[in-house]
Order: sequence, then C-alpha cells, then structure tokens
Amino acid sequence: MHDLNADLHCHSTVSDGTLSPEAVAERAKAQGVALWALTDHDELAGQHRAADAARRVGLDYLAGVEISVSFAGQTIHVVGLGIDLDDAALRQGLAETRGGRTRRARAIGDSLATVGIDGAFDGAEALAGNPDMLTRTHFARWMVATGVCRDTNEVFRHYLIRGKPGYVAQQWATLREAVSWIRGAGGLAVIAHPARYKYTPNEEWALFEEFTALGGRGVEVLTSSHSAADAAKYADTAREYGLLASRGSDFHSPSESRIDLGDLPPLPAGLTPVWSELQARIQRA
Ligand code: AMP
Ligand code: MN
Ligand code: MN
Ligand code: MN
Repeated sequence: MHDLNADLHCHSTVSDGTLSPEAVAERAKAQGVALWALTDHDELAGQHRAADAARRVGLDYLAGVEISVSFAGQTIHVVGLGIDLDDAALRQGLAETRGGRTRRARAIGDSLATVGIDGAFDGAEALAGNPDMLTRTHFARWMVATGVCRDTNEVFRHYLIRGKPGYVAQQWATLREAVSWIRGAGGLAVIAHPARYKYTPNEEWALFEEFTALGGRGVEVLTSSHSAADAAKYADTAREYGLLASRGSDFHSPSESRIDLGDLPPLPAGLTPVWSELQARIQRA
C-alpha cells in the first residue's frame, strides 16, 4: 500500500497539459503507474475519457480535479480526489470558478500589448485545447513559440507573475468553497504543492489550520516542484496536522515537465497515503 506507484496530480489538454486524457493514461501505464488520477484545473470534462482510458490500459483510477483558490492574497491549489462527477454543487462551483478565465485572458493580452507584445490573446487561444480554460500556461507557450522567451519558466519570471506586465489578478474560489465542494462530492481535499506558495510562516499556519478545520484531509508531500527538503518539511506538516500524504508529478507535457508521470520517489516512512482512505472510490482496472 505504502509503496504503490500512485500519481494523483497531472494535466491533459482539457486544462493546460499538452497530451489528451487518453495519451496521459497510456504514458502513465508505460511509466509504471498503478493508481492514477487526472486532475485538470477547475474542470471535469476529461474525467470520463480518463477513466475509460485507464480501464482500457489497465490502470486503477480516481476521479480528480485541481481547484484554483484565493487565500490570504495569493492563489493556491486544492486537489480533490475520489469525487462524484455528477455532483451538482461541485459542477456548478467549478463552472463559476473557471467562468472569468476568458475575460482575464483578454486583460492579460491587453496588458502584454502595452509592453509591445501583440496578438497574445489570439496566440494563447489557438494553443488551448479547451476554449473555457485559457491559462497562463497557454500564454507562456505562445511566448516561447514566438521567441519572446527561451522557456515557459522564463516567461513566468518576466511576465506572468505578480508585479510583472502580463499579470492580471483574479478572484478564484474560497478555501471554504473548494473544500466543501470536494467533500460534498464524497471526495478528499488535498493541499497541492505547498512549497510553491510565498506565504509567511503565520500565513502558512493559517492555511493549514483553516484547511483542517474545514475538513481538508491531505497534503502533497511529493510533487515535481518540491525539493527533498520541501518533502521532508511537508512530511512533518502532515504528521503535525494528522493529514494524509499525497504523491503526484503535476505532469503537464513531455517537453516541459521536469519529472515524468510515476517518477517520484516513494512517500517517506511513517505517513499514511491518501489512497488508503480512498479504496472505495477507486475504479478498478
Ligand atoms: P492560471 O491558472 O491561468 O493562473 O495558470 C496557472 C498555471 O501556470 C499552473 O497550473 C502551472 O501549470 C503554470 N505555472 C505557474 N507558475 C509557473 C512557472 N513559474 N513556470 C511554469 N509554469 C507555471
Ligand atoms: Mn497547470
Ligand atoms: Mn497547481
Ligand atoms: Mn497541477
């Protein structure tokens, strides 16, 4: 159970990945993944395709989503695992969360035009597999394709983060909403990649206090943006708050992702994996 090759965080063309849900399933299988969840941003449209593909290639599957949340002045992500895809409140909440994306993308395009980068909205839109899910990743890819920057990381550093010319603030779901939608749909809520947030120790304490008080159950200990020290730190956080530990590559693309599907190390000893509490929600291959 502890050593299972579970990959419970990754993306397809339904949000900002470059592979279809079917291609992600095939790649996960080839990479030795045994339990998989596709967790597209704010959107369930790939879930039936992913589950069907998982069955076809012989992967156990958990329905998943990664919800964008505004908390203490920053954007954070909450992964929901084992959710009921027909849950009306979850579906409605996600529709509202992604609803402002096109307007925001137009504002990002306008903002980039003020620093001499024209046509970014159309460029990003042409790269998006799902017209309702225009993300900063699509802008970053377009700016690499047009030679503005060498790689997407450089685009984010220079253009797409707070304080930079292409940054447009957005109000996402609240932490309370995201956790309640996931719980209401029978799923388990997990704080995604906590080391990426730029919180003070007090703000981070507030995040974990509030999250657990709301019924959030897990934290990603192993994910591609965590160093070994980050993993050790959030393993301690999991023990301190009695949270379940999750493991997910956050894979987006073969050419952009530093860690491929299934390639993370095993969870540190002494942690309880999220999948131990999700057995009844797994769709067996
Ligand atoms: P959005 O939801 O439109 O704000 O886009 C957020 C997405 O941008 C994340 O899900 C990541 O895939 C990507 N992203 C955020 N920061 C970076 C970064 N520094 N380098 C590359 N991709 C990033
Ligand atoms: Mn993403
Ligand atoms: Mn994320
Ligand atoms: Mn992600």
